Amino acid sequence: MPRLVKCPVCKTEVSWEGNPHRPFCSERCRLIDLGAWTEGRYRIPGEKINPESKEEDDEQEEESS
Ligand SMILES: [Zn+2]
Repeated sequence: MPRLVKCPVCKTEVSWEGNPHRPFCSERCRLIDLGAWTEGRYRIPGEKINPESKEEDDEQEEESS
């Protein structure tokens, strides 16, 4: 009997055997989970944008109407 695991991302039951992306159903779900994990880890709530960051507006817009 094939062993089935539920993909943690989309909850699809996938075969454990011969599944290179286990415990996910596909590489896509693996990347989604990885992305969610890193976001949760690195995103600080209420993080402010560094006021010292320079905004370089060197774009020369020549709009003559
Ligand atoms: Zn999935």
